[in-house]
Amino acid sequence: MGGRGLGLLSWVPMSITPRKPEPGRGEKVIPGLWRLKLPLPWPLVPHGNAFVVADGDGLLLVDTGIHSETSMGELERALDQCGLSVDMIHRIVCTHAHADHAGQAMSIKDRTGAEILINPALDHMRGYVEDPVGTLNSRLDRALLCGVPVESVDRQREVRKGMSTGFDRVVVADRDLVEGVVIPTDLGELKVIETPGHAPSHVVLHQPEGRLLFSGDHILGRVSLYYDVGYTPDPAGEFLASLDKVSSLGARLCLSGHGKPVSAIPELAAANKAAVEGRLRAIMASLAKGPMSAWEITCALYEGMPEEPRIGWFLPETIAYLTHLNLTGRAVNDGGTPVERWSAAG
Ligand SMILES: [Zn+2]
Repeated sequence: MGGRGLGLLSWVPMSITPRKPEPGRGEKVIPGLWRLKLPLPWPLVPHGNAFVVADGDGLLLVDTGIHSETSMGELERALDQCGLSVDMIHRIVCTHAHADHAGQAMSIKDRTGAEILINPALDHMRGYVEDPVGTLNSRLDRALLCGVPVESVDRQREVRKGMSTGFDRVVVADRDLVEGVVIPTDLGELKVIETPGHAPSHVVLHQPEGRLLFSGDHILGRVSLYYDVGYTPDPAGEFLASLDKVSSLGARLCLSGHGKPVSAIPELAAANKAAVEGRLRAIMASLAKGPMSAWEITCALYEGMPEEPRIGWFLPETIAYLTHLNLTGRAVNDGGTPVERWSAAG
């Protein structure tokens, strides 16, 4: 599917300054490990990383980049700069089922016969790829319930009509990437750790002897919070628990889904945790003034932010925090229609 370029996740900002992507490029990180910086058709998130690991007589690919009319060429170009080729890939490991990480998994498999390893919590991808319009409509219905004005919702519906999902088709696992699975490579064994939060299907891969962590979007070089809401009971709580899991691993090189490799993993986990706790406190401070809709809270917290990321990125984030506050006994929802309002509990 070529589409017109932008998927639902195009509204997730890594930065609020749109940037043009550069062509795909590849570079060696350490012997037996390469980073592929691949372009994305999303002005606010212009690049994503894939990583290549030497694996016997072939290659293991960690994440695939998005699927588009040009994406296979970009992957080929980046691999070629490392003296490698797509045909050498015999295993594909996806850190999570977002388009920029798993979008062209099936195309690579079609070409090379590579096996695909991904976590089985794939409803958030499957529903979207099988029915992008239905998924968009249910997100926009939820936005209305949260108090987003009808005219803003209608604008989003118009803007997103006919956009590509960024997946070639539904990703099907050959092997489930669940907690405790171990993947042998020339760098040593990669141990799978489930880290839901950013996405229900999120895992990281830990290589203990080399102290490497393939962190996907769980830990990036800077705090950038995003949650898939509606698929698991408590995405923000799950994210906090996942941060605790990785901060004590002792890894010192973090190969993340976007940006350059970083170290300081415990510090980055702590910064993410502090950011979440700060947002939870800010929401409680808003609710102390009286009942509010999730949209009113979002607008209070992200004043001045353009409408599109405010609806697509920050509103789901607010919903994740309100859900967490509800489950931990701090906030309640009146179940109202057409707009739900939230209050401090007790
Ligand atoms: Zn990503």
